[in-house]
Amino acid sequence: MPNRITHDILAEILEIASDAVICMDALQRITFFNKGAEAIFGWTPDEIIGQRIETLIPERYRGNHARQAAKFGRSKVKARLMSERREIAGVRKNGEEFPAEAAISQVSQGDDIVFSVVLRDMTVRKRLEQRQRFLAEAGEKLASSFGSSETLNHVARLAVPTMADGCILGNRVGNGFLAGAAAHVDPGIEEMLDEVGRAGPLIPPKDHPLAEILEKPSPVVLQPNAASRLIETSVNPAYLRAVKAMNPQSALFLPLVARDQLIGVLTLFRTKRGFDRDDLGFAEDFARLAALALDNARLHDTMRASLRARDEMLGVVSHDLRNPVAAVKMLSRTLLRVPENVGAQARESIELIAQAAEQMDALIRDLLDVNRLDAGKLTISPVPVDPSVLLTDSLQTLRPLVEEKVISLDLQIETALPKVMADRERIQQALSNLVGNAIKFSPTGSKIVVVARGGTDDVIISVLDSGKGIAAEHLPKVFDRYWQSSRTDREGAGLGLAIAKGIVEAHGGRIWIKSRPGEGTTASFTLPLA
Ligand code: ADP
Repeated sequence: MPNRITHDILAEILEIASDAVICMDALQRITFFNKGAEAIFGWTPDEIIGQRIETLIPERYRGNHARQAAKFGRSKVKARLMSERREIAGVRKNGEEFPAEAAISQVSQGDDIVFSVVLRDMTVRKRLEQRQRFLAEAGEKLASSFGSSETLNHVARLAVPTMADGCILGNRVGNGFLAGAAAHVDPGIEEMLDEVGRAGPLIPPKDHPLAEILEKPSPVVLQPNAASRLIETSVNPAYLRAVKAMNPQSALFLPLVARDQLIGVLTLFRTKRGFDRDDLGFAEDFARLAALALDNARLHDTMRASLRARDEMLGVVSHDLRNPVAAVKMLSRTLLRVPENVGAQARESIELIAQAAEQMDALIRDLLDVNRLDAGKLTISPVPVDPSVLLTDSLQTLRPLVEEKVISLDLQIETALPKVMADRERIQQALSNLVGNAIKFSPTGSKIVVVARGGTDDVIISVLDSGKGIAAEHLPKVFDRYWQSSRTDREGAGLGLAIAKGIVEAHGGRIWIKSRPGEGTTASFTLPLA
């Protein structure tokens, strides 16, 4: 038959297969060993044929293998996957173990049985899977670390021992690197590596791999004899001491690049093994991850530092501005109190000065409050208060503003409202911010209504105006600090709502705004019952 696969063809196929194909007799002695098996196990057919299959199995699995093989021999099953239920492993001629996947079959030949095993070396697949898992976990871990020193430490801890026996992570500083974290499998050596950072920046001499990286940010591998080559080219005593103690066979220098800038370097040291191409790819993936995390952490540090600086500056400035402004306020009022001292024209100017000082004082107070909110230092002392009394008193101080703009201000309070917990002064401040906005953004002759009604376990206070309203896309931003829909309004600093929110939330209440452009705005907040 022309289509029939001949014995020769089969033999040829077996020879070129990259899997190991091994046959055994009933006594488990090897009778056939293809090229694939030779490549995987390191034995030649001459050496291995006639030996028992145990030679290819790690010692601790041998007993179990013998039992399984006997059971299989007695069974009616013709073929079976061996790695289905448990991990299996092979051992190479050089003693190295490796993970494997295998199937076994049995064919009777007369009175004899021939066993055949097809086995695949899973080392690369397993390693790839492990690396992928490692990178995914590392990514997660690094994404959740914040400051740069925390991130540096995480990177070093992740690199050792998975990728190397030791590592140093250096931050780029000018024409050198400052070690920011280190790790080693031997704590004594790790201590020496830490010394490298404490000794200050490392300015690499011309032939050092670090100098190469500064020149061109691509990985540099030193192997074998990394130790002697590093000792030859290094001058820094702490670094030399650590290198001598580690005595690395190989060293891999990986540039950390973020946003096109060389921001640091990760050095991996291995005491015995070298780095192969696979290792390099893996390490490069890790370095990319580390660079990104480090860059983010630094941005985070910078942001925090500048926020702190801004708040400190704001605190100092507003505090120191308060006294001179208070003096202007007081002196202008004193002048106005003695009419014969001032002529009509001067009087008008002094009134304007007093008004300006008043505004300045309010602004400074807002800045200080925002600062307190940030620092979590806005303290309130709530006491049980009748909402009707609270609102009537609070709105009293706003009357002049309303009258000035010819706006009517109505108060609608549900009867018999229960008492609420409120810090009178603070709630008055919040309310006057809300009513102040309503006045500011309403046309002359319009109406503002302040409503108080009972909620489930609180009292809801709302300020309704029929002013210009707020565009839907702006609504989510109104409570943000310094946010204003248009910068032309010089009366406020965009802090009023942020402060009102801080005050209401400090009371355990909620605050929200609804608005229709052209129709009006309703700002509401709740106060918990006493
Ligand atoms: P400001 O002190 O500048 O008024 P706020 O935090 O109180 O700051 O308000 C922020 C911005 O929200 C205002 O600049 C304005 O654009 C908008 N806004 C707040 N309340 C109203 C309102 N009742 N009607 C229209 N726009 C408002």
